[in-house]
Amino acid sequence: MPTNNISFIKHHPSKQLLEQHIEGKLPLSMALAVAAHIELCPHCQQLEAQLTPQIANASWAQSKVAQRDLEQDINVDACFSAMLSDITESSDDNTSYHESEPLAIECKGMTYTLPRAFTKFHQLNWRNLGKISRARLPFEEAEVRSSLLHIGKGGTIPTHTHKGYELTLLLAGDFEDENGHYVAGDFILLDESHSGHSPKTSEGCLCYTVSNAPLHFTQGVSQLFNSIGKVIY
Ligand SMILES: [Zn+2]
Repeated sequence: MPTNNISFIKHHPSKQLLEQHIEGKLPLSMALAVAAHIELCPHCQQLEAQLTPQIANASWAQSKVAQRDLEQDINVDACFSAMLSDITESSDDNTSYHESEPLAIECKGMTYTLPRAFTKFHQLNWRNLGKISRARLPFEEAEVRSSLLHIGKGGTIPTHTHKGYELTLLLAGDFEDENGHYVAGDFILLDESHSGHSPKTSEGCLCYTVSNAPLHFTQGVSQLFNSIGKVIY
């Protein structure tokens, strides 16, 4: 992971997406992307640290009201004290908690260290088409597909647009398209309102991608593009 690039991350999840992540409301595919971005991005680590107590307080206040509505006889404060002492008493469990080791993976002779959010995906089946390699992650979310996508040195993805959304979290290396140059940690969420783009990488890159519709190639129709589309989506 090229940690020296982290200070140049320009593309972040929206505040709304961060809040939904903290509230646990995102589907797993998107939660993984936000969690991995936060690991790579000091700016969003700070935002998360600010937002978490606000959201926790708001949600506690909400549940307090709801509980009073439902069970007026119960003394909520007593419940809260009991809950607090439960938490304090079980603090031994917290001290024995070990953070998982980051996972190193290999693709096309390169080794990459993935953010801890990806630790459980150690069994990856790569499918290769030229310079493009893709390993699907095993989420079951209807039409949503999540993958690790590797593009070798000098690789390009032909110009395409999207019917749905396309999230790219750049994990290692760099790439550029019509809109700019991206470094490890950049979180790029495009929807169908974006005009076509054609990512290219000179040194190679590894991305985590989530999309909910096949790519639509605008550079003409050919067997090759259709095959690339199947590999990428
Ligand atoms: Zn960020």
